[in-house]
Amino acid sequence: METAKSAVILSPAISYAQTVCDNAVEAIFAALPAAQKIGPETKILLKPNLLAKHPPEAAVTTHPAVVAAVIRACLARGAKAEHITVADSAGGVYNPGQMKALYKVSGLADACAPFGVACYTACETGPRKTAGGKVVSEFELIRPVLEADFIIDLPKFKTHVMTGMTAACKNLFGTIPGLKKAEWHMRFPEKERFGEMLIDLLETVRPDMAIVDAVVGLEGDGPAGGEAHPVGLLLGSENLPNLDLACAALMGLDPMRVPYLAAAQARGLCAAAFDPADLRGEPALFVPVKGWKLPASYTGGAGANTDFAHSDRVPKLFRPAVAWGEKRLAPHPVVNRALCIGCGKCAEICPQQTITIKNGKSHIGPKKCIRCFCCHEMCPVKAIDVKQLRLFRL
Ligand code: SF4
Ligand code: SF4
Repeated sequence: METAKSAVILSPAISYAQTVCDNAVEAIFAALPAAQKIGPETKILLKPNLLAKHPPEAAVTTHPAVVAAVIRACLARGAKAEHITVADSAGGVYNPGQMKALYKVSGLADACAPFGVACYTACETGPRKTAGGKVVSEFELIRPVLEADFIIDLPKFKTHVMTGMTAACKNLFGTIPGLKKAEWHMRFPEKERFGEMLIDLLETVRPDMAIVDAVVGLEGDGPAGGEAHPVGLLLGSENLPNLDLACAALMGLDPMRVPYLAAAQARGLCAAAFDPADLRGEPALFVPVKGWKLPASYTGGAGANTDFAHSDRVPKLFRPAVAWGEKRLAPHPVVNRALCIGCGKCAEICPQQTITIKNGKSHIGPKKCIRCFCCHEMCPVKAIDVKQLRLFRL
């Protein structure tokens, strides 16, 4: 019987030992019909999560052993090494020097080299029209997306201070080149519209399958500021929103509080909650991760994760009060000056250009902040915390 497109394959992987990852990835490839389409002429893009310069053990980026296992599985199906490309665009500037450094620090350069597989550093980009996008009509994307005829999304299993979680769908934000990402944050400062944009992006990039690296995930104030937490799984599917529903269930997160999943559900791309009947592989492993920490912005009850950016949608009379709430009650970034090294990466990425570096320390101008938390993501020393009034935390 053919595996349904909604199937989510659970594959045990208790460590990043190469044979463990090879076996887990092979089980996913064997179960997904899409993988059977790979052949000698298939131009394959592997899209990991590189985010910023972090070593594999930080659990921020897709582990090189998982990427190596996926390359091996593609080669086993007849793919040619010269037709496989590993490519991503991290949060900062998108240029060859920056990308080379990212591939090196993440371990991906060393993982790909023995196979003769290239990590993409030319940093070219091009446009692609969305097919009936709800909020976006065209995206500028990194060139390998436009040239591939088979895309394998390779995200990391992580929490996210803005979107609650990041896995298969949100990882595609990395197909937008470098600082162009800031423009999308600026255009869609409200979480719900940002979620709609991510689903337009999903429908534009259209990956053929995804494998989530949940061998060790990242909990707490992710996608970079959290802590590593072993999960012991790889999860694969052709249906990325359904795969993320499964990840949300493992994290103990209500998927309808994840704006992009709510947007996907409204478009009929997934259900409102994961249905365990979709599990394949080893369903017995589908157990919420013990002690998994959600981001501070998602743990404070009804007051947390407050997004008042819809002030234009409430009656005029109440708008000043809504604006007041927006500024004071919602989680917001705060610089820990004792940790800040004044590198300026937060100022470089800030879509609102509301961060300045004075006397070697970062200063955030709160009035213009749209709480996208890009600064928090990009800080290399975890010097930007996510804070909110104590009243609104548990
Ligand atoms: S807050 Fe972080 S990213 Fe910003 S200047 Fe300080 S160390 Fe650099
Ligand atoms: S200060 Fe940080 S959270 Fe606020 S807009 Fe700039 S990058 Fe986004």
